[in-house]
Amino acid sequence: MDAFGETLNEQLALIREQGLYRELRRIDSAQGTRIQVDGQELLNFSSNDYLGLANDEVLRKAAVAAAERFGVGSGGSRLICGSLSSHHELEEALADFKGTEAVLTFSSGYATALGTITALVGKDDVIVIDKLVHASIVDAARLSNARLRIYRHNDVDNLEKILRSSVTPKRRTLIVTESVFSMDGDLAPLREIVELKDKYGAWLMLDEAHATGLFGAQRRGLAEAFELQERIEIHMGTLGKALGTAGGYICGRRALIEVLVNRARSFIFSTAPSPALAAAATAAVRLVQSEEGETRRATLWARVDHLKNRLVGSRIRVPVIQSAIVPIAIGEEEQALKCAQALKTKGVFVPAIRYPTVARGKARLRVTVTAQHTPEQIEHLTTAISQCIN
Ligand SMILES: *Cc1c(COP(=O)(O)O)cnc(C)c1O
Repeated sequence: MDAFGETLNEQLALIREQGLYRELRRIDSAQGTRIQVDGQELLNFSSNDYLGLANDEVLRKAAVAAAERFGVGSGGSRLICGSLSSHHELEEALADFKGTEAVLTFSSGYATALGTITALVGKDDVIVIDKLVHASIVDAARLSNARLRIYRHNDVDNLEKILRSSVTPKRRTLIVTESVFSMDGDLAPLREIVELKDKYGAWLMLDEAHATGLFGAQRRGLAEAFELQERIEIHMGTLGKALGTAGGYICGRRALIEVLVNRARSFIFSTAPSPALAAAATAAVRLVQSEEGETRRATLWARVDHLKNRLVGSRIRVPVIQSAIVPIAIGEEEQALKCAQALKTKGVFVPAIRYPTVARGKARLRVTVTAQHTPEQIEHLTTAISQCIN
């Protein structure tokens, strides 16, 4: 074997030894509560498609109509020749939905974090992030070359201590947090964080990936629910969760969006997404705002409540459930894999989440509930989990 092959094999052996080996599972069906995984039909509790839009007819038709009109490729980056009306319509719909002056969309949430954070802070600045923020934010913070400070998860005293010691009049300080945490499902203490960032003159970027469509009177997210929208400088979201498609976006004032168009490298140097995808996302934004969107949200929370009730008095221990994400702590990486495998034999698909997605020794099963699940399916899930976890 050549040296390259040997190096690759050594790496794989090491990953396997730690119980961290990952592989792709082939899905042969559309998204939904029942999916075909590796040829087996399973009850799906793994998706972020909270409102059941990923395979919705309205979105499918919007995608088809846009493909018929514009084709499938965008032709280039938005600044070269790919800024199709589909993308502008999506941004107008998002600005209207989120109630902000302007919006910029990116090809993914990952690209959104990377482009935005590096456009806003640099080596003379400070970036302060929650310990549990998404990898895209951590990577962006590192890439920005700003001084990186990490506060304990949702710990506002620790955040204040860091702000007190690092904020100076000459440096810009950017705080970044999620509103609903992707792997724990808990909520950030937004009011306290907003008070602190104002007190210290910092800026706040809020990633609402798992809150958009679910929280707030108009389903804009947790900032709306807490009535803090106007006080947050940078609102981030993704299109791949409750909005059922793929992509990411930043909402805020017009000058922010202009700076991003000029400076966000992941936006500038990347081909615009397919117009079909943008059109489907526009349909999703409108659907979430409609009465149908409210109905779906209400159904989702009813299912979450049903799950909560089923867990009360069971042997399954979970933290207080505050969102559609329910983590079941396991600990050992290998053990989490075994539990997920056992659930599969009972016809239930729940992913084992391991390092580096979460800390070492904090492996868990991550259950996500959607508006499409039936009460019977929730009961099937809790019965299966009770049988598989001791
Ligand atoms: C999913 C997610 C992202 C990344 O979005 P993609 O569109 O999947 O690249 C960023 N932040 C959070 C909190 C997420 O959950």
